[in-house]
Amino acid sequence: MLLARLNDGPEIFFTLQGEGVSAGLSAIFVRAALCNLHCRWCDTDHTWNFEGTPWQHDKDADPAYRKYRKADVTIEIPVGEIVSHVASFPCRRVVLTGGEPLLQQEAWLEVITGLRAIDPAFVLEVETNGTKMPTPEFRSAVNQFNVSPKLGNSGMEARLRTVPAVISSFAEDPKAWFKFVARGPDDVAEILAFTAEHNIPAGKVLVMPEGRSSAELDHHAAALTAPCMLHGWRFCDRLHVRLWGDKRGV
Ligand code: SF4
Repeated sequence: MLLARLNDGPEIFFTLQGEGVSAGLSAIFVRAALCNLHCRWCDTDHTWNFEGTPWQHDKDADPAYRKYRKADVTIEIPVGEIVSHVASFPCRRVVLTGGEPLLQQEAWLEVITGLRAIDPAFVLEVETNGTKMPTPEFRSAVNQFNVSPKLGNSGMEARLRTVPAVISSFAEDPKAWFKFVARGPDDVAEILAFTAEHNIPAGKVLVMPEGRSSAELDHHAAALTAPCMLHGWRFCDRLHVRLWGDKRGV
């Protein structure tokens, strides 16, 4: 399957889950390459912003920023190697992330099956943008979905970033949580409208400030705490940014 590349190998690393309901727990992250969206503030743009693509990114404002050569930032790797790499860590919580991991569901299912053959105690979380429907087999194999629907601040057209049937299916799935990245009042209003339209209970909603530094997180968080209290949403920080900034592989 196609994973993001980190140095000479796949982007698989042992760390603390930084976001969502499992924040603070130790976890092994496995990062898939490729995404069907191209959000302009994406902090994993190496999974999709390849040379020759027309996508724009906030980092374009930096004269030093360049699109990535796909061969430099991706790696094709057999399922068995992923399984043995993941199983070598002293941890049984695994986060499948990306990019958009649901683009490679069949291969992930083989990874999960391989891991559980080694130890049935493996717990699998999946980070998804909520635009791809999980197959029944994949849904059943996963313990937790961290669904992060994209808002207008992503720069994505609404018809691409919102697939109502997929959102509704996650709204009804007890394994799924919704995590929104927000910057201020306009985003709060959009989250309210989105959750009402798709019948997402407030208790399943986490709101997280956008930012790739503690200063950016603080700036955006200031506008989010009161709405979280008012609407019964869970405020969620980005622990990995606090601890390690914008660094990859941690
Ligand atoms: S959906 Fe996620 S990985 Fe894909 S471009 Fe948006 S932020 Fe990045």
